[in-house]
Amino acid sequence: MKVLVAVKRVVDYNVKVRAKADGSDVDLNNVKMAINPFCEIAVEEAIRLREAGVATEVIAVSIGDKSCQEQIRTSLALGADRGIQVETEGAVEPLVVAKLLKGVIEKEQPQLVILGKQSIDGDNNQTGQMLGALTNMPQGTFASELVVDGDKITVTREVDGGLQTLSLNLPAIVTTDLRLNEPRYASLPNIMKAKKKQMDVYSPADLGVEPKAHLTTLKVEPPPERKAGIMVASVEELVDKLKNEAKVIS
Ligand code: AMP
Repeated sequence: MKVLVAVKRVVDYNVKVRAKADGSDVDLNNVKMAINPFCEIAVEEAIRLREAGVATEVIAVSIGDKSCQEQIRTSLALGADRGIQVETEGAVEPLVVAKLLKGVIEKEQPQLVILGKQSIDGDNNQTGQMLGALTNMPQGTFASELVVDGDKITVTREVDGGLQTLSLNLPAIVTTDLRLNEPRYASLPNIMKAKKKQMDVYSPADLGVEPKAHLTTLKVEPPPERKAGIMVASVEELVDKLKNEAKVIS
């Protein structure tokens, strides 16, 4: 079984994001970039399926400019077998990503496609669902457990207030939630080995897609600065301030 995993290059989750001075976008100058954490979970799950003898090949695909090859190499160091970069310029919207992934699926014919549930930069939570619609493949989103059984996959989903278990026919699309697994770290020998693994580069035209922008970012602004707190001398003073200044109690 071939597994395709979509990995996105995003700002590292430890970085405090800054807006550009003109408010046109997020400032990515000298900012540490990483694999989107939900995509890391997707890579880990695919590798575990291969280690369990369920998957035969894991392919990591990323869409972006040349710099996203770094995240493909990291996926290869974690254990993916080969990589695919779809070369695009500038930011790509979920619909374009989904169309390009559909093109890769048509070329590679994977039985399982694993994506993160959400990219932490755009917070879109759209690509997996759009890909499901475009390919007509069944989808299990927000997966916290996966079990492949013959030509079916059982997906446990984290929904409000509990868990839902679905059975999907393969080929299928799954998006990962936080509790699916705990990703491993890449070892130094595996980082070295990853340099020799195959990485193909496609253009959108190779996949029959013309990237079109449907959205325009109007403004990016940081959250309002929080005012410093004050110390009160007594419970009476606190109650008085809550009542008469903040007016949150009566
Ligand atoms: P989003 O819909 O942007 O929240 O992203 C959900 C998931 O779609 C991500 O976790 C990735 O698995 C995949 N994805 C989104 N953008 C890209 C991209 N540029 N390259 C590869 N995968 C992507």
